[in-house]
Amino acid sequence: MLLNDFAANDELKFELTEAMKARSLPHAVIIEGEKGCGKRSLASVLAAYAVCTSSGDRPCGVCSGCVKAAKNIHPDIFVADGNNSGELNIESVRRIRSDAYIKPNEAPCKAYILLNCEKMLPAAQNAFLKVLEEPPENVMFIMTALSSANLLQTVRSRSRIMTLYPPSVNEAVAALKRIRPDISEEIISQSAADSGGNIGAALELIASGGEEEKKTAEEIFRAIPQSTEYALMLASGKIARNRAFAVAVLDRLCSLSAECVRASYGAADAGSAARELSERFSRKKLLKLQSTILHARDVLNINVNLNFYSTWLCAVLRSE
Ligand SMILES: [Zn+2]
Repeated sequence: MLLNDFAANDELKFELTEAMKARSLPHAVIIEGEKGCGKRSLASVLAAYAVCTSSGDRPCGVCSGCVKAAKNIHPDIFVADGNNSGELNIESVRRIRSDAYIKPNEAPCKAYILLNCEKMLPAAQNAFLKVLEEPPENVMFIMTALSSANLLQTVRSRSRIMTLYPPSVNEAVAALKRIRPDISEEIISQSAADSGGNIGAALELIASGGEEEKKTAEEIFRAIPQSTEYALMLASGKIARNRAFAVAVLDRLCSLSAECVRASYGAADAGSAARELSERFSRKKLLKLQSTILHARDVLNINVNLNFYSTWLCAVLRSE
């Protein structure tokens, strides 16, 4: 991720861009902001800046340092999380402190990403203070916290505090499209609106929503060959709840029907649900269902009444 891809916070981004160009980022920063606002993402951008080897703008996103940083395998980027037991206790902080004086392995600069620093006890913060007071050359400490007010004043005064604000819903939509190009626009817009623009919360909504959509799609598929219409009516009736959900279920149905067809040809990578479902239909029937479902997904692009749509869907799936 490059700084330009980071959503909103234009003033801070401008300031950071200038500092990066001048190679004058401070050696210690605290990124503060609510959960899900992008603290970790910004910390990764700053760490990539530290290890980037480009002679032009840093981070460049293409040098081996940037590539390793993006894959989380750079030997000069160290990550510790205060939410994980012992990772930022006094012993760990002492280890970080002495490690900071060892030269980087391959990068121009080493980066320590210390997440959820509000969980650091005062004794650990005091141990950390020593290295902040006499920072070694070529080291960057990037801390994150919900609020820097939760850290000792002595730590805050030796760090540059950067406050992140959640983007507007529109800005969040644009960012989510970049992060999850696999998700339909309707679901992204709905999740961004439901989370008030908080990208982290929207991503959680997308992930948690996924399970229910998957379950509903499987229920619909399973109900198709049943002798009575009732189970299919019940399952397809669930999509009338809201548009974003209906779209997501139909997207799932499209991929599930394609996977069932592949399973019927013995594809080894087909999931267990698709393998089991494919046995309930002939291949000819599966191919027909696949094209019916693709057509039904297209129909949903027209702004249809969802109650009528679910009844219609039930009828076309039964008629196959
Ligand atoms: Zn680079």
